[in-house]
Amino acid sequence: MSDQCTPTQTLDAVVVGAGFAGLYMLHRLRQLGFSARVIEAGSGAGGTWFWNRYPGARVDIESMQYSYQFSEELQQEWQWSERYAPQAELLAYINHVVERFDLARDIQFNTRVVSAVFDQAGSRWQVTTDGDDRFSARFCIMATGCLSAANKPDIKGIDSFKGPTYHTGEWPHDGVDFTGKRVGIIGTGSSAIQAIPEIARQAAHLTVFQRTPTFSVPARNAPLDPEYVKNVKQNYAALRKTAKQQFVAFDTKANEKAATDMSAEEIKVELERRWEMGGLNFYGGFADLLVNQHTNDMVADFVREKIAQKVKNPATAALLTPKVIFACKRLCADTDYFETYNRDNVTLVDISTTPIDTITPEGLTVAGKAYAFDTLVFATGFDAMTGSLNKIDIRGIGGKTLKDKWSAGPRTYLGLCSAGFPNLFTISGPGSPSVFTNMVTSIEQHVEYIGDIIAYMGKHKLSAIDATKEAEDAWVDHVNEVAGGTLVNSCSSWYLGANIPGKQRVFMPYIGGFPPYVEKCNEVAKNGYEGFALK
Ligand code: NAP
Repeated sequence: MSDQCTPTQTLDAVVVGAGFAGLYMLHRLRQLGFSARVIEAGSGAGGTWFWNRYPGARVDIESMQYSYQFSEELQQEWQWSERYAPQAELLAYINHVVERFDLARDIQFNTRVVSAVFDQAGSRWQVTTDGDDRFSARFCIMATGCLSAANKPDIKGIDSFKGPTYHTGEWPHDGVDFTGKRVGIIGTGSSAIQAIPEIARQAAHLTVFQRTPTFSVPARNAPLDPEYVKNVKQNYAALRKTAKQQFVAFDTKANEKAATDMSAEEIKVELERRWEMGGLNFYGGFADLLVNQHTNDMVADFVREKIAQKVKNPATAALLTPKVIFACKRLCADTDYFETYNRDNVTLVDISTTPIDTITPEGLTVAGKAYAFDTLVFATGFDAMTGSLNKIDIRGIGGKTLKDKWSAGPRTYLGLCSAGFPNLFTISGPGSPSVFTNMVTSIEQHVEYIGDIIAYMGKHKLSAIDATKEAEDAWVDHVNEVAGGTLVNSCSSWYLGANIPGKQRVFMPYIGGFPPYVEKCNEVAKNGYEGFALK
């Protein structure tokens, strides 16, 4: 389409993505009196919870905490049914938010942003979409999510399989009926750990292809007790405050003691207590879990022992036992994951030393041995944190692309801005606590911070904000230094981009904890947004 027939729409802000981040950003911008449009590739809102509809998909942070807190009315009126809400309920919640705050009229669905180019003379972003829309906006806000670019591995013959294939992160909206089917699944991360027990219950046979075994603790999901809900709702402000004081921005009832300061008996009691509490509360067991090798080994051995108790076949149990550092890859929370391998219709195939040779029309082969199935599931994760940004042609000052700038790893100031890309913000971008925390809480902090910056610029008649190179370099060094002081820097996780062939190994999230991060952001603001160049 030519310029003449595509009128440019002029706005204060374009927001890319209508998940938790994009929706609240729109609401906040409107509250501040700015015009904004959200562009969303999906046909509905929800981001992660719109796309990840695989069987068993549910949140692994308690729903009473994994929810917005910006509106007291919203958090009082919404009823969660289970400790960890299933995907459908999360999506219903998000759609309720869209309706309640009348957001849909400023969201353009079924549209993918293809480019965002900074016009230096006018200090504006020119944003184009695959529908030939053109927007000119003072601010471009990327709410594209940390785990939204599906990773389909480059396995030989991948297109030759004659049956249906599915990726957990792009699941069909009508669901998939596995009844009577022979199913193969590749991957054993968080998504697979939730999907495997559900698929196994339906399928005639399930073959799991495992490259790396995963640490998982019981989620202990259950319907929510109305008394508990009542109590939380009466004291929501206090719970939210406590949660924000925690490293992970959710209340794990964290033990402030390091294991090194505890007796053997105390440690044993704490481990069993954490196991019974269920879910990611396990992170809160010992203050030195991620920094002390001895503590980590002890926790890892405890969980290994539990796996051995759950899985009847010792050879299968051995294969399912992780050898790596505990929580080095993201900890998983499951319902009957390990028990599923006791079923007669489930087979585990180790591909750690002999990868898949090729996918064939009938299935796949490993070390020359053929495995046949009717349906193939990829639970192979995402090109995390940078993948969805790199899909967009983002050009800053002098036409430089963000992808080029980040070719040796993402570089940001506070995970919010990247030098040379003025007026461009990334919500929960690399260099922010994001995936190490309760995402909704981190998103709210970013959205409110970005809103404050934009309001400040309006008040002081400023046209552009850009991170300075010095502040960015110092922040990137700090992010790396903090990660380097922990044990999580050492394994092949998606935190490091190690799951994507050719991706630079750089620890992407900030692992210094939510409270110090917020303190740093607030200090920056108090000092007139130090580290940013304002003009
Ligand atoms: P993931 O944790 O990256 O797991 C991907 C799995 O696929 C891994 O087992 C990986 O093996 C395997 N894999 C990848 N490429 C492969 C290849 N070429 N050949 C064989 N195996 C391959 O992805 P995910 O399970 O989708 O989870 C990603 C993140 O999303 C989680 O860490 C979590 O943060 C989030 N998530 C959260 C929830 C929840 O809240 N409940 C649920 C799902 C996901 P290797 O380990 O050897 O690379």
